[in-house]
Amino acid sequence: MKVILLVASLLLLTLVVPAPQSAADIVFKNGNIYTANEQSPKAQAIAVKGDKIVFVGTNEAAQKFVGTNTRVVDLKGNTVLPGFTDSHQHLSGVGQREMTLNLEGTTSLEDLLAKVKARVDQAQPGQWVTGRGWIETHWKPAVFPTRSDLDTVSPNNPVILGRADGHGAVANSAALKLAGVDKTTPNPFGGEISKDKESGEPNGMLLDSAQGIVRRHVPPTTRADEERAVELGVKRDIELGWTQIQDAGGSFADVDIFKKLYAAGTIKLRIYKAVYGPGPNATRLMNEGPTIGAFGNRLTVRSIKVVSDGALGSRGAALLGPYSDSPDTSGFLTVKVEDLRPMLVEALRKGIQVETHAIGDKANRFILDEYETALKAVPPAERKVTDPRWRVEHAQIVNPADIPRFAKLGIIPSMQPSHAIGDLFFAPKRLGIERLAGAYAWESFIKSGVVVPGGSDAPVERGEPMIEFYAAVARKDQTGFSGEGWHPEEAVTRNQALKMFTIWPAYAAFEEKLRGTIEVGKLADLTILSADIMTIPAPEILKTRNVMTVINGEIVYEGS
Ligand SMILES: [Zn+2]
Repeated sequence: MKVILLVASLLLLTLVVPAPQSAADIVFKNGNIYTANEQSPKAQAIAVKGDKIVFVGTNEAAQKFVGTNTRVVDLKGNTVLPGFTDSHQHLSGVGQREMTLNLEGTTSLEDLLAKVKARVDQAQPGQWVTGRGWIETHWKPAVFPTRSDLDTVSPNNPVILGRADGHGAVANSAALKLAGVDKTTPNPFGGEISKDKESGEPNGMLLDSAQGIVRRHVPPTTRADEERAVELGVKRDIELGWTQIQDAGGSFADVDIFKKLYAAGTIKLRIYKAVYGPGPNATRLMNEGPTIGAFGNRLTVRSIKVVSDGALGSRGAALLGPYSDSPDTSGFLTVKVEDLRPMLVEALRKGIQVETHAIGDKANRFILDEYETALKAVPPAERKVTDPRWRVEHAQIVNPADIPRFAKLGIIPSMQPSHAIGDLFFAPKRLGIERLAGAYAWESFIKSGVVVPGGSDAPVERGEPMIEFYAAVARKDQTGFSGEGWHPEEAVTRNQALKMFTIWPAYAAFEEKLRGTIEVGKLADLTILSADIMTIPAPEILKTRNVMTVINGEIVYEGS
């Protein structure tokens, strides 16, 4: 009897345990898996060996990949998506926001002051208190904070706090005094020192380049601080479920930091990096050539970031007509054509991607024209990369006549859903109702035949995947509000939103064969969530948590 049992169980073992070479390292079972692969959109189980997916299918069929050393993860019905990508983020800015006073989500002036007071109470005498992330538009009343507000909680320590969008900051009297700013200080080029209308004294708000007058006096960050910022940014991103971020601008100094941290094994997030141009960083990238897939397909540097105009909030976005609430201005372009043109031509010849910040309808038309001219000047046979996949970052306000030009030219609009649900509170004033047709026009773009990679632009926005996904499908603010001119028809479907954060960013990074869907042979990047964001009511998306992040087959974050 015993012998029969032994034989039977041996037989069973040989049936169930795979040969060592086909056993997986990890098998994920009992998942509610959305693959973003149209051929087989749903699954229950995934097997991973090394950095790749080796099986996608049913729990039963996955069993044949379970060997003696295989880790089996019971997903208990949690929702699994291809690893989410933030197509537009500023990684070190996200980290710096963590290192200084993080003011994102501040609900009122009182809330802001309470946070500042708590920090000042911990500070040494004379130590600077810096921070970023406040947005006054949801406060009541919706007005900028002043230096006198800050003086009530920090009479002695210098304080400077950036608005989330980076285009303004408020400083207290101690900070202004250190910088020598008073009623006689003139506005610098490209900036404004806000002054009280009656007394003429500075009120604490510093716009655009005027921030520099005070920021110069903040002790500089060290290389160690910058490395720490990257580590903290990566930690936050991974906890939130991002598996790759596309870092929209910066320099080779950033690249050196990434390389050091990858080599030391302290960061695991994938980074698709652009450097600013025209200028020395762009020139260096074109001379040295791109870096593709270093550190286990984690680091790619093959893109130049151009900034062609400002932002809508500060009326720096370049418009085809005047601002509706300020008829004497229509914004301004921020790149010189004579610098841009030769760079675009060289980038095509050398196989370098170009991604350009364009917010206003004039900036969008300008960059489409410039891209078109360069594409004509360098025909496919003379390009190092035939299909260069150039991008427009933001593509926020686009004249409807220009929308089809993206598909025609093969240009990718890289867009940030959270910008719409924040900006649409003031965009109708800036633009008038009519120009909002073609603003944040995600669905029109998709219907025109382009892919729309989605991003957050953090730290300009919070940088949370669930806020972005919700904004894309709901096109309402986080309380469910949507007003006149919000164009609800531009919201996307859940399936489209899934692609915006998975396969479309992969395409925009030339990585669609490598990642972006859950398919055999692709890199094992997974974002695992507490709820099914493909079916739950939209407001519940905002309550959904990331429970596990997998990059290159490694569980890099596991929530409690
Ligand atoms: Zn940005």
